[in-house]
Amino acid sequence: MSNKTLGGGWEHVFAVVQGDITKLDCECIVNAANRSLLGGGGVDGAIHRAAGPELLMECRTLGGCKTGEVKITQGYRLPARWVIHTVGPVYSGRKGDAVLLANCYRNSLALAKARNIHSIAFPAISTGVYGYPLNEATEVALAAVREWLAENRAYPMKIIFCCYDRQTYEVYQSCVSNELT
Ligand code: ADP
Repeated sequence: MSNKTLGGGWEHVFAVVQGDITKLDCECIVNAANRSLLGGGGVDGAIHRAAGPELLMECRTLGGCKTGEVKITQGYRLPARWVIHTVGPVYSGRKGDAVLLANCYRNSLALAKARNIHSIAFPAISTGVYGYPLNEATEVALAAVREWLAENRAYPMKIIFCCYDRQTYEVYQSCVSNELT
């Protein structure tokens, strides 16, 4: 675990951890969902399994979600009280990918703030089945979060990047160290 401030004041705590996001004890976790919001594989499947069937029932009422946008539900049996569902872009190699991916992070943070949430954990959105190259996706994620923090300096927010595998963790660690030096 590493705690670092990134583009904000003392009130912004930024952490990179390796582990399973469904186990994290923070107010809100972000789900890398698909547009239907009706469950899938990867982190989406893990979140639905851990949260229980009530999560799918609530998701059925939401009418899906567009790429880059966000919807919020309760966390049910998760330690997290809330789940923000966002849909990352399927990697196409076009410029628009980065805009959509950045929107996932920015819109998640904006919705969290609107709900008075002060701790949020992100998975590495789009870097699994959606095929976004890990290094590029990590740069986009960090830049989007840094920008949001700079624009919201007065709002206390703890941001956790939850990396499932060792490689993702190492890429995040090295991108964060590069940003800070
Ligand atoms: P996407 O469709 O957006 O690519 P995936 O779920 O396939 O979403 O993968 C996104 C990232 O989430 C990958 O780095 C994957 O290893 C990771 N992941 C899978 N399960 C978990 C989990 N339980 N906790 C945190 N991250 C996870």
